[in-house]
Amino acid sequence: MSAHVFWAPGRVNLIGEFTDLVGGPVLPAALDLGVRIEAVAADEIDLCSHELGGRAHLTADGSSPGDEAEGWARYVAAVAAELALLGRPAVGLEGEISSNLPIGTGLSSSAALEVAVGVALCSVAGFSLEPLELAQAARRAEHRAVGVPCGILDQAASLLGRAGDAVLLDTGSLAYEYVPLPEGIALLIVDSGVSRRLESSGYAVRQEEVGRALAAFAERDPREITPAEIDAYEAKGTLDPIAARRLRHVVSEGERVHEVVRLLREPSAANLRRLSEVFAEGHESVRRDWEASTPELDHLVELAQENGALAARMTGGGFGGSIVALAWAGEAEGLADSVLSAYEGHDDAQAKAYVCRASDGARQIS
Ligand code: ADP
Ligand code: MG
Repeated sequence: MSAHVFWAPGRVNLIGEFTDLVGGPVLPAALDLGVRIEAVAADEIDLCSHELGGRAHLTADGSSPGDEAEGWARYVAAVAAELALLGRPAVGLEGEISSNLPIGTGLSSSAALEVAVGVALCSVAGFSLEPLELAQAARRAEHRAVGVPCGILDQAASLLGRAGDAVLLDTGSLAYEYVPLPEGIALLIVDSGVSRRLESSGYAVRQEEVGRALAAFAERDPREITPAEIDAYEAKGTLDPIAARRLRHVVSEGERVHEVVRLLREPSAANLRRLSEVFAEGHESVRRDWEASTPELDHLVELAQENGALAARMTGGGFGGSIVALAWAGEAEGLADSVLSAYEGHDDAQAKAYVCRASDGARQIS
């Protein structure tokens, strides 16, 4: 029996950072880097990983015959368990995982792994789910596997991606539409080389702070609160300064997503100049109001701007991780080299750059 091939991409969020905490909009793109699974249907699940070694050996419904699943096998077990709850017939999968997506740099290799496993398990069992149902199952699997309270962005982007387009996703209603990127645009991602140690604790603290801010607005729909109202509440003392700053970020960031979408849809020279400003404002808002940037991310954004990026900002969970820059495809490699060599002169951290294109989402390839 010849093996099937399944593929799920990583993602980068262009703008709309942390807005999922209030059901706001995000604007990710799927990448041309991702996780590949080559496998056949089998009685049990038995997968090995080319990158990390080890095996995920489980029953077809995700339970472990012996010890509890460990390491990356936890993600496989969790996806199988979530799909079993949705009624997937217990058909196993035997084969190999391989990936060209860097692990642990914020391009969401964990979501790509979950989604690739999900697509493969559904296929071998002849079980079909809508892309967003599978995204939600994969997101629940991330919680189940490692307890990370992530939003829907990573898994949805991996499933919904389309070549040449970003995906405008409303994380509240899950409505989405495609936003074509200007012809000839590349996505440059530069990993600052500083691991995101504080990310999960930092995220939980921010969640609590945003909750406190929303409580001051009682029954209001967070998406209708304006920056001017936040200023007024802070001036009156109804909102403490930290809660005000956190809410100001998510509210203003939602407005920036919609502005970026308008600019991308009409990429005149003037609009591309404005795009650069909106990305810079977004970065500044994460730095000043959300307080999740780092000196390395600030420095990389500056270097990208100085060296000809169309727009640049931090991306992902913050407290380390990566920046994203938009650049003309013919200039992206040169930009990456300039940024890396200037960064090396100033920081100890080892940075890495990836030039990507917005790409199609997860699928069965053969
Ligand atoms: P990120 O999602 O930002 O890359 P995470 O820490 O959330 O970082 O997820 C990384 C984890 O995902 C790895 O530690 C591993 O458990 C799993 N993973 C990612 N890629 C692979 C792979 N190719 N093979 C096995 N496990 C993988
Ligand atoms: Mg992850």
